[in-house]
Amino acid sequence: MNGSCNQCPRQCGTHRTSDSLGFCGIPMDIYVARCAPHLWEEPPISGTRGSGTVFFSGCNLRCVFCQNAVISRDCKGTPVTREELCSMILALTEQGVHNINLVTPTHYTEQLIPVLEKVKPKINIPIVWNSSGYEAVSALRRLEGLVDIYLPDFKYMSSDLSASYSKAPDYAQVATEAVLEMYRQVGMPTFDEKGLMKKGLIVRHLILPGCRKDSMEVVRHLADILPSDGFKLSLMRQYTPEFALHTPFKNLHRQLTDFEYSSVMDEALRLGLDGYMQGKESATTKFTPDF
Ligand code: SF4
Repeated sequence: MNGSCNQCPRQCGTHRTSDSLGFCGIPMDIYVARCAPHLWEEPPISGTRGSGTVFFSGCNLRCVFCQNAVISRDCKGTPVTREELCSMILALTEQGVHNINLVTPTHYTEQLIPVLEKVKPKINIPIVWNSSGYEAVSALRRLEGLVDIYLPDFKYMSSDLSASYSKAPDYAQVATEAVLEMYRQVGMPTFDEKGLMKKGLIVRHLILPGCRKDSMEVVRHLADILPSDGFKLSLMRQYTPEFALHTPFKNLHRQLTDFEYSSVMDEALRLGLDGYMQGKESATTKFTPDF
């Protein structure tokens, strides 16, 4: 891409040089913060040998409570060429991981397409697109056939919350269109004989303290727009306040309560949604990768 960058819904129109960065904070080069097997994703993604994660630096959403702020906001990472990234993905594959998991890839969509076109024929494990859900349908369409598993967040329904925490008042509308496009591409979830996902859509939702009612709206919305057996819901309770103490949002300065988690989980169960629930022990920074 030689012109200005409009590849995500921010539509910054910058040229993404070190002197002129867009909202995602990254020039046109690909920056990688970590590349390693990871065992703490959902069971059909991590399996027993781990998910082959590639954590990209920068982010086009930059939530105020982000647990990976050192890479998403501070943009810690190393620039790699496309050829180097191909080699990193092939090396991960040789380690026996169950899939290649591209974490926070949205602002690199254009740069990653030629990488995926090159490595996809050489590997026989799924490619996972692990995103914030804040991405353009026009960009996602270009990934058709290159991505096997979509693993987006659906963070908020409330425009007030998405504006306050992510500077994205249109988040719910954008994420709705994104998950519908993802479902159109990959269809019903399929698994191998060991229960590992081969193809499909897992939608993650992190419940935030003080935002229980919006979380219930998210769950109801997902049940409205997608067939209940057409996706898996990953209901996350791993929120830890350490990363949001600098913000003026007092509700984000505490842990989630059992009541907040169970009321959202009960709503998901009432709606007949299937998926993955996290235990209380997940709410600790020990599951945050060391970048
Ligand atoms: S990818 Fe980055 S520079 Fe491009 S439109 Fe999105 S936030 Fe702006």
